[in-house]
Amino acid sequence: MTPLFQYVGPDSIRVAAQSSPAGYRIESGTALATWWRDHRDDEHGWVTYTIAANGDLSIAPRRSEHVACAGGGPVRAAGEMRFSRDGDVLEVTNTSTGFCPAEDCWPAVQSALDAAGLRHPSGFTFVAVFRRCPKCSARNLVKDEWFVCELCNADLPRTWNFEPGSTTSC
Ligand SMILES: [Zn+2]
Repeated sequence: MTPLFQYVGPDSIRVAAQSSPAGYRIESGTALATWWRDHRDDEHGWVTYTIAANGDLSIAPRRSEHVACAGGGPVRAAGEMRFSRDGDVLEVTNTSTGFCPAEDCWPAVQSALDAAGLRHPSGFTFVAVFRRCPKCSARNLVKDEWFVCELCNADLPRTWNFEPGSTTSC
């Protein structure tokens, strides 16, 4: 099993998410088709997704918070997915600023998609690199291999450094 990621985003979002519906569980292509019938394709097939501790895949409209989709968390992976009209997964990312999942959480996504019988890429089509600043604790999304905190300019570590259960600075 891949590791569990705790929510590391602002507490205000976590609290607000408690009154939002959890994501819709996708255990088959039929479940996915049912969900799309109720959600007009106004995001070009993009959705928010989370993989629960038990491996379940849940999706929600793209603007949803991951912590809401996950019913509070924790998760084995989180990010965004884009589906084709036929229900194939075209793109998958680990972009979740709420959970800041490590770059290598793909196996949890693959297992869930395989279990649901959905066709998918062989890995993340975009890998988000999240690091917590060791100096000011800010959550950073590293771009272009630039491992420098955008708030305080401190150097960021090369390896993922959000410890399970770590608290947020926000
Ligand atoms: Zn910093």
